This record gives sequence, structure tokens and C-alpha cells, in this order.
Amino acid sequence: IINLGQPEHSTITTCAYCGVGCAFKAEMKGTEVVRMVPWKDGKANEGHACVKGRFAWGYATHKDRITTPMIRKSINDPWQEVSWDEAIGYAASEFRRIQAEHGRDSIGGITSSRCTNEETYLVQKLIRAAFGNNNVDTCARVCHSPTGYGLGQTYGTSAGTQTFKSVEKADVILVIGANPTDAHPVFGSRMKKRLREGAKLIVVDPRRIDLVQSPHISAQHHLQLKPGTNVAVISALAHVVVTEGLLDEAYIAERCDDKSFREWREFVARPENSPEAMSLVTGVPAEELRAAARLYATGNSEGVKTGRQVNAAIYYGLGVTEHAQGSTMVMGIANLAMATGNVGREGVGVNPLRGQNNVQGSCDMGSFPHELPGYRHISDSTTRTLFESAWGVTLNPEPGLRIPNMFDAAQQGTFLGLYCEGEDIVQSDPNTQHVTDSLKAMQCVVVQDIFLNETAKYAHVFLPGSSFLEKDGTFTNAERRISRVRRVMKPLAGYADWEVTQKLANALGYPMNYQHPEEIMQEIAALTPSFAGVSYEKIERLGSVQWPCNDHTDEAGTAIMHVDKFVRGKGRFIITQYVPTDEKVTRKFPLLLTTGRILSQYNVGAQTRRTENNQWHSEDRLEIHPHDAEERGIREDDWVGIQSRAGETVLRATVTERVAPGVVYTTFHFPESGANVITTDSSDWATNCPEYKVTAVNVSLVAQP
Ligand code: SF4
Repeated sequence: IINLGQPEHSTITTCAYCGVGCAFKAEMKGTEVVRMVPWKDGKANEGHACVKGRFAWGYATHKDRITTPMIRKSINDPWQEVSWDEAIGYAASEFRRIQAEHGRDSIGGITSSRCTNEETYLVQKLIRAAFGNNNVDTCARVCHSPTGYGLGQTYGTSAGTQTFKSVEKADVILVIGANPTDAHPVFGSRMKKRLREGAKLIVVDPRRIDLVQSPHISAQHHLQLKPGTNVAVISALAHVVVTEGLLDEAYIAERCDDKSFREWREFVARPENSPEAMSLVTGVPAEELRAAARLYATGNSEGVKTGRQVNAAIYYGLGVTEHAQGSTMVMGIANLAMATGNVGREGVGVNPLRGQNNVQGSCDMGSFPHELPGYRHISDSTTRTLFESAWGVTLNPEPGLRIPNMFDAAQQGTFLGLYCEGEDIVQSDPNTQHVTDSLKAMQCVVVQDIFLNETAKYAHVFLPGSSFLEKDGTFTNAERRISRVRRVMKPLAGYADWEVTQKLANALGYPMNYQHPEEIMQEIAALTPSFAGVSYEKIERLGSVQWPCNDHTDEAGTAIMHVDKFVRGKGRFIITQYVPTDEKVTRKFPLLLTTGRILSQYNVGAQTRRTENNQWHSEDRLEIHPHDAEERGIREDDWVGIQSRAGETVLRATVTERVAPGVVYTTFHFPESGANVITTDSSDWATNCPEYKVTAVNVSLVAQP
């Protein structure tokens, strides 16, 4: 613990790491933060915190911060420090030149789940109103875009159904492709408390995560499936529910669309979806699949209906979404919860655990190329007219380019200018070579970030960003809770991110004149029905609010969604056919690589690697099963080469039975280990979310690099 002295004053703000959204008291001495103390009244954390939010805030004043704007004509030239006016003016003139020469759609931008709601709203407004196209996408593309698609199709909106507190009422907890004790630690602790009280646990994961077996907690079932076979598992669970009479018929009759239910029931009852058939695909014993389905539906592994209402809650993460069938799996989960009557009350539901602080918010704010704020399709003329009249422009009714489409268009010479705020696409997007080749093909790349990140190596303009300690605004966590982010120190570069975006809009000739992020939130509330009741005044008074928040909800918004009916009316079942991924093992690539996070580090590590947290986990390593290691002559700490059809990298080995034979695993927190050099550009069929969780690889012993 770094003790910088006794605090003189403090400000309540929100953690800028994961989607739990813990509230902290930033204690200050003069203009310096001396401590971040978890706030006891924070509704998401109730006074708790993890090692990231509690200790890893020092990056905000790290010596690597860039605080002066820079430009260069070519990425081979050295950076030249310039004034804000010169940098913004250069970016604007280049964007307009490219549009004049190559058309309105030749530029676009990327928003960040690290930034506030107000900043994200402003970036998409800049692109739609000032660029004049819908070429806006968000880093949620590479994490939870299948959640948006899947929950939108089945329930009618893209959001988790519960509060975190709801887990305290769960009798059965089904964790799929998530590792809450490492990636969402404060919620993970809450879940563990409930498990210690006696709730039953099913874990679906190719790796033996801590939850499977930890002090006083032992999962009833660990379905250790082969990577890429999630949909086969959910089909088998649904098959058991349907064929063993475990459906909640009354719930389905009242709450769900009858035609889609009958079609789904007929589909999942087919023998090819049985646990016996899916066992061959997933590698999970059929009896284990049967028992897990019975436990989820009835509260006991024998499938005996006791007459008591059992609450079964599903929590899932990127191990569900980052697959070629990510959207299919989200819909499979939604189907299972509806079929057993587990949506619409405390203790149940479908809960995506969001990786970043404002993934939910960045999606809510209209960052996808096909949606305006509030998940309204750009082709909807009524919604478009509303925004056109507020923004004073004519909006393009056609969806714009997604991030991977931007890269492809760049290589075809039709997409040449990019505004990228708070997102290191070179490190975080799959198939690094393809990303860098695309950036090299562009004529003007503008990066706005707090550090000169990997993407900035391919940029022509660098605009210094601001950390969460330097700005006002709001974040929305994984339970739709909107909390205030409050400025505790002046922006090191002079401006907060929203002010930089506003300057760029003005330089492009589209006037913006907000004096404070509160004015931006007022505009969001006026244009977005689910945010109509959101205001800074109310958040000050209540601490936080949860959307939907309007005249039809409680003053603090909505804790549990879909209580009387689904947002779309009747819940819709969707047929979810398992389709094998293209990432299959071959003689050349005989192992399947999957990826994940570790407690002390965060995503690509740009923040945590610049803090004391780096001492606890200072490299990415490859976990490999003892059998696979022995076959290759690999021992603990040896250096191993990993090759996929996209690229190759080198890591040190950890020999462990956490992974099954045939499966290897690594984290992705260090640029030098290059996890995304080897991930391919396979992606979800509906949303293009990359298939980070399955890559066929070869692993061999190599000399120390
Ligand atoms: Fe921050 Fe998440 Fe840790 Fe809470 S659990 S302190 S939000 S990183």
C-alpha cells in the first residue's frame, strides 16, 4: 500500500476497470490522490473492492502519459508536438480532404467502453452528424456484441436482467464461460458468499476455474467441454428439460410466444440434441449433462420436482460471446431460462458479466453502426426524425461499417480515415497483422488516448486523452446501473475527452457547445425513452439509477427486467442449431487454445502494467496439460512456441491439470506475448465478434528468445 499522507478532502467516483462498477471515495491531499477507498454506500460494491480498483489507479499520473498533441505526415516520420488547435485543425482538414476525394463514407470512428456515456454519445453524434455516415463501432464489437443481438432477439433488449444483489436469492447458479473471481472479483465474492450459504453450482468451462473447487465451495457439476462446443452443451441441457417434463408450462403459456416455443421444443427434443449425442461433440459425459440440466430446472440433480419454486440464475462472460456461434449461444441461454420460468423475478435471470467499466453504456449510447441511442435501428424513420430535428442534420438510413468491415475496406482503398478514441485496436482486435496492414493503408488515423499505445504507432494525429480521475460523466455497469464519475483532478492535457471530441466537431464545421457533461446527459434523456428519467440531480440524490428509468418505472429505475412481460412483449424462442467451428484440430495444429483474464491485470494491461499490480503477474504464460507437455518434452517454465494459421508467438509454460488434455490456455495482458497475433479472424456469424476463445495451434519447445 502506498501511503502518500493524510487526506484533506475526498470525492465519490466510480472504478474505471470492470463492469461491476464499484464506487470509491478518492481521498486527496492538495491536488493528488492519496487513496482510493471503497465506498460503503456504493450499491454495486457495498464497501468492497478488488486489487485493481483499490490499488491500480497510479497509471493516471504515470510518466508515460502524453499530454501534448502531436502530428506527423507519415507514420515513418517522427512525431511533432503542436498546439491543440493545430492538431485538431490538421485532423479535420485531412478528414474533409479524404471525404472530398473518396466520398462521404470513406472515414469513420471507434468509441470506447472505457469512456463515459456522455463521451461515447458525443463520438457517435460526431460521426453521424459531422462525418455524415454511420461508420461508428465500439470495442464492444469484440466482446459483448452477441449479447446485444441474442438478448435483443429473444427478450427485446440488450441488457442483463438482474441486479447483483439478486444472486443472494439464487438456489442454483449456472456459470458459463465466465471467471468472476478473477474478472469481476467484487461480484465474484458476492456469488461465493451465496454458494457458501448452500446455493448449488454448475460451471461450464473448458478450464478448471477457481470456482469449481475452492475453500468451502465445490461445484456440483463442472461441464469441462471442448472449446467451441457451447451450443452443443446448451442444446443437451434443453433436450433434458423438454424430454423429462421439466418445462415451466404455465410460465411459457403466459409469457412466451407459442409458435416459436412449439418449434423450439420440437427441435431440441430430436435425438441429435440428446446428452448422449452431444457428449460425443463436447467431451462431457452424458450423465453429467443430464444431471446438470435437472439441477438447473429443479434444484436437484435427480430432476425431482418438489413443488417449491427454485431460483436458477445464469451468469456468463466472454467464454460465451467470443465464438463463431456467440450469438447462437446467447439465444440458447435465453431459451433455457424462459423454458424453466427463470426470468422476471429476484434470484433468477440471464446476466452477462461485462468486462469493461462501460460496455453496457457504450452499447446503450448508439455506438453500433446500425443503432441510434437506446437500441433503435437507424432505418426506423420515426427515430431518425427525432434525432434529425434535435441535431439539425439529415441522417443516413443505411447502417455503416463494423470494425472488421472498416479494416477490409481500408485494404480495398475505400476507407481511409479513422478517429479512434480510447481503444487500442492493434492489441485488442484479432489477427494483428491484418489490423496493422489495414491501418497502414489509411491516410489519416487519429488516436485519442492517455498513452502512446500500439495503435498510435500507425497514427498521424495523437490527441491526449484523460483518465477517469480527470473527468465528469457517468458509467453504466453490468446491472444497468448508471453512476457518476466525478473529476478529482484537472485533465493533465488541459481537456477531458468529451471536450476534445467537441473541438473536432467544431473544426469539421458541425457546431457543439456543451459546457458540462450534464448537458449531454440532458440531451440523451430527451432523446432516449429508457433514459428519460435519468438526471445528474437524481443520481446525486439516490446514488445511482438503473435503466429503464422513466415515468413508467420507480424513481430509481428498474432493478429486475421483464417482470410482468418481456420488453418485446412475448418472449421468443429461437432455434439454436450447433454448428462446428472452423477452428478444428488438425495434424498441423493439434491443440485448441483458449484465453482469459487474471485478477491483478486488466485487458491489454495498458493501465495495470503501469502500476504495482504488475509485480503479481508480470507475464502471460501458456497453461498446458501434463500429458501434452510430456509428449512435447515441455517442463514448467520452459519457453514454448505457439503457431496458428494466423501467426506465431513465444511464451513460458505452466504445466497444469487446470486445462484438459488437448486444450491450452493463456491470458492476454502483455503486448509482447501477442495473444492476438495467433488468434484468427473467425467471428460470430451475426455480429462479427471475434472467435478469441478457440484457436487451433501447435505448441513446441523452443530456446529462450
Ligand atoms: Fe473495479 Fe471491478 Fe474491482 Fe470493482 S470489481 S474494484 S469495478 S475492477
